[in-house]
Amino acid sequence: MKRTIVVTGGSRGIGRALCKAFAAPGVHIFFNFHSLEQAGKETAEYISAAGAIPGRFRVNVADSEEVADFFKTIIDTTGRIDVLINNAGISRDNLLARMKESDWDDVVAVNLKGAFNCTKAAIRTMMKQKYGRIINITSISGVSGNAGQANYSAAKAGIIGLTKSTARELASRGITANAIAPGFIETDMTAELPKATKDAIMAQIPAGRPGAPEDVAGVAVFLASEAAAYITGQVIHVNGGLYI
Ligand code: NAP
Repeated sequence: MKRTIVVTGGSRGIGRALCKAFAAPGVHIFFNFHSLEQAGKETAEYISAAGAIPGRFRVNVADSEEVADFFKTIIDTTGRIDVLINNAGISRDNLLARMKESDWDDVVAVNLKGAFNCTKAAIRTMMKQKYGRIINITSISGVSGNAGQANYSAAKAGIIGLTKSTARELASRGITANAIAPGFIETDMTAELPKATKDAIMAQIPAGRPGAPEDVAGVAVFLASEAAAYITGQVIHVNGGLYI
């Protein structure tokens, strides 16, 4: 059986590493991007090079109608969804006193409502199959909180609640739902942090190095495997010891 994998925000960073990690001959990998067309094309090339079949779409995960169309296309094409990885995310950091309402709304809409929209669109098919793997990318900030990230931390903490409720509702249907909480991973998202901030984080990482997107992708491959069939509702930390 050829699997169908869906990765949101698959065009760059952790999402691209997820697409590459699942790419194998005959596997369908559908991913979306939001604005950077060229990055999406490059991810599709990696998928094709591994013999997998890419499906690349411009979709705003915060928009439930766009998400519904995206999943309709997937189901019309392959008839199944084996793995959904809710990875798309943005940050708009600022201290609470200076945080604009729009920065709160945008971060919650993409990170949290986006995961809800995609999960809702995928689970009917997974329930019919009596099989599915849902993996939500949360963050260390959603567990420990982080000064300057009230919006992002709240959205990522919300994802953990969404994951646990999804796990409880769907375990009897053969569907698992887990979250991965990355620490400091080198991507475009963290590249924009000031050097002093990066140095301060690095000094607190017992492993002595930043994470790579592949460190996260490997855990997702495990959670989507048969070896992880009895793991659900969990948060797996991938942070080099930054949060223990
Ligand atoms: P990234 O390099 O900035 O990539 C973000 C991805 O999300 C891109 O593919 C982007 O598409 C997509 N995206 C953004 N807004 C979207 C929207 N409205 N609809 C659909 N797709 C959208 O980020 P990353 O570092 O790989 O992060 C991936 C996930 O890991 C995020 O959920 C992030 O919060 C989480 N995370 C990251 C770290 C870290 O240290 N990097 C740590 C903890 C958690 P475009 O390219 O078109 O913009």
